[in-house]
Amino acid sequence: MNYFLKRKILNLFFPNRCPVCDELIRENDRFCPECTDRLTPYTGTFSITGAAECFSALVYDKAVKSAVFLLKKGGCGNADYAFGAYLADVLKDNNIPDRVDFIVPVPMSEQSRRKRGYNQSELISEAVSAETGIPVRSVVRKVRNTGEQKKLGRAGRKLNLKDAFEVTEDVSGKKILLIDDICTTGSTFSEIAVMLRKNGAENVYCASAMKALKKSGT
Ligand SMILES: [Zn+2]
Repeated sequence: MNYFLKRKILNLFFPNRCPVCDELIRENDRFCPECTDRLTPYTGTFSITGAAECFSALVYDKAVKSAVFLLKKGGCGNADYAFGAYLADVLKDNNIPDRVDFIVPVPMSEQSRRKRGYNQSELISEAVSAETGIPVRSVVRKVRNTGEQKKLGRAGRKLNLKDAFEVTEDVSGKKILLIDDICTTGSTFSEIAVMLRKNGAENVYCASAMKALKKSGT
């Protein structure tokens, strides 16, 4: 079913709420006006080994913290749409819809996905897809659990992720947009981007809904 039609129907039963403060908002609003004012757009630049370009929509700070909690632990609410729509704006501003073939959401291991019931990067990818028209193809699988990354340094993260992912379809010559919820050090993005390039992908772009400015908190 069409993404926006599905939202319309859902909205009849579960009226849309701001993912930060839980205030009722209109059907296709992202956050309420007050919480929107507190968001910090990400204006910096960052680079990731294996990626042609990197994009992020918002700074990961205390203004979005409760929406991130909802995204990871509360069954999402409106958080996936809110973050996906912001990311779609940035991608459209950079002509990414004309430059990529499909979106690949950063995968979770089957075990973690079952525990949470969904993969938030997949849900954000679906929102980006609805807003930009770029199709989603989950061609990367996480083959083993890697545990928490947040206590590890950059080298530790890289080692922890080694051989954690595999490509499930032929990606040769493809231009791919990798999407994740939050980018901290970029080690997950890099691990997957390098692997996709080794498998023949022509270009890999990385986009996260939020960018953590310091190496903590995610
Ligand atoms: Zn709000």
